[in-house]
Amino acid sequence: MSNQYQKIVIGAGPAGLFTAIFAKQKGEKIFLIEKNNCIGKKLAITGKGRCNVTNNTPDLKELVARYKKNGKFLYHAFSEFSVEDTLKFFSNLGIETKVERGNRIFPESDDAYELIEKMYALVKDDILFNCDVQEILKDGNHIEGVKTNKGKFTADKYIIATGGKSYPLTGSNGDGYELASSLGHTIITPKPALVPIETKEPWVRELAGLGLKNIRMDIYQNGKKQLSKFGELLFTHTGISGPIVIDCSREIGNLLEKDFVKVLIDLKPALSYPTLKDRINKDLSEAGNRAIKNSLSQLLPSSLIPVAIKLSKIDPEEKASQLSKESKNSLLHTLKELTLTITEIGDWNNAIVTDGGVDIKEIDPNTMQSKIVNNLYFAGEIIDVYGPTGGYNLQLCWSTGYLAGIS
Ligand SMILES: Cc1cc2nc3c(=O)[nH]c(=O)nc-3n(C[C@H](O)[C@H](O)[C@H](O)COP(=O)(O)OP(=O)(O)OC[C@H]3O[C@@H](n4cnc5c(N)ncnc54)[C@H](O)[C@@H]3O)c2cc1C
Repeated sequence: MSNQYQKIVIGAGPAGLFTAIFAKQKGEKIFLIEKNNCIGKKLAITGKGRCNVTNNTPDLKELVARYKKNGKFLYHAFSEFSVEDTLKFFSNLGIETKVERGNRIFPESDDAYELIEKMYALVKDDILFNCDVQEILKDGNHIEGVKTNKGKFTADKYIIATGGKSYPLTGSNGDGYELASSLGHTIITPKPALVPIETKEPWVRELAGLGLKNIRMDIYQNGKKQLSKFGELLFTHTGISGPIVIDCSREIGNLLEKDFVKVLIDLKPALSYPTLKDRINKDLSEAGNRAIKNSLSQLLPSSLIPVAIKLSKIDPEEKASQLSKESKNSLLHTLKELTLTITEIGDWNNAIVTDGGVDIKEIDPNTMQSKIVNNLYFAGEIIDVYGPTGGYNLQLCWSTGYLAGIS
């Protein structure tokens, strides 16, 4: 007896939507199951609502190398459905894009809902909302149906595109791992990735909201430098965030599992110690009788001045030109080695993606088909692969979703 549907896709996030759209384009009868009452709940909040669709990295090898984990697994998916294909797909839907700093690509409209609405139009007749897949029914190494709160549904093939565990309020609460595991798949322990970092020092609160560009951040454990990053950092009420922090947060989390971790921030990486020393001397002597608290505006953003003065143990009322050699030296070191102690990394509620998921060894990278269950496929964040911020995580959803759709 043939099934009513050729494919059942579980999850209407970016990966599930692409699977459904491309399977349908091939002429297949599809059924998209989503437990929320709308599609793309997480997609709607990507890029702060602007949706960083992809990254303008046309070279395949370079693109694969950007992924933090298991990038090679994506080689075939990207060669079948590239960054260019992504842009063409959205352009055909009437969504034009623009390239911003760091090759990040956004819709011209700066509105993630534009993508959601256009994709919804393509699958609206094939979706069942508020439908939660609770169990996948297997007969030997073949799936014969899915059990949901709305009854049992069957198809020839099944695609799990339920996302990871991050931002669980968007629907991706790790359900998919249990479903995959019940079918015999190995799940690499999921951990929050691309998260802000909490620090011990209370003075960060005074800097909350301050973003700094072109700074260097070195991560130390037991006196040894473990990582070094250059770029943009943001202070928060509880610690630090911003691209350079978020992108190495998982590595920091792994270090923290072993021992204490310190961050040294070089606020003036373009200036060597002697050059910065000369610069401080010059600025302070030009400031003459002004208090030190009113003399550093050429060197630092205003909110950082009182903090730098306090950390350098200088009296803020002291006259700039009369600052002792020791005080100047202390200021120099504060600016080159602003030190923070990491207490913890953010949790699932503020992780952008998941590190971990279905073991790539059990998925065929050419088709996204399970090597364990005949008629099962995976797409998107549920797979144990992730990239840095910058559009890489959505690109992996588009490409793996495409492959699962046409396979
Ligand atoms: C705040 C934030 C900002 C981000 N910004 C960007 C960005 O700008 N660029 C970028 O590249 N990446 C970004 N990401 C990452 C990106 O959003 C994810 O990588 C992507 O959404 C994963 O897509 P997915 O389809 O695999 O899973 P999801 O988007 O999580 O979708 C999975 C869907 O499956 C449904 N589902 C789960 N379990 C079941 C079940 N049992 N039954 C039925 N349905 C189920 C869920 O409700 C959900 O709708 C961001 C993430 C966050 C949290």
